[in-house]
Amino acid sequence: MAWYRNTYQCEECGTGWDDEWSCCCDDECPSCGASDFSPVESEDLSVYVDRTDDGDYEIYYSPAEAGHEPDYQLLATTYSKNLSVFLRELALELSKPA
Ligand SMILES: [Zn+2]
Repeated sequence: MAWYRNTYQCEECGTGWDDEWSCCCDDECPSCGASDFSPVESEDLSVYVDRTDDGDYEIYYSPAEAGHEPDYQLLATTYSKNLSVFLRELALELSKPA
């Protein structure tokens, strides 16, 4: 499933916080309890690329059918940086529900 880190800012007291969600949900202020704030920023954590000691790129993604947590799986390993960029795009597609 897609996985996001959302950043929020409370309009009542100015508190900023962030949280990880499977969607871009609204959240409640941890400081004053004011609710229904939409994220001011959303970072997509569904896919990440790791470098191995050999310099290879490992592309991981959280598949669309994963539960309420990201369930990262290895999509592919490549020595090519260009290919890793392409595979990352592919992985982003795979993390979205069909
Ligand atoms: Zn607040």
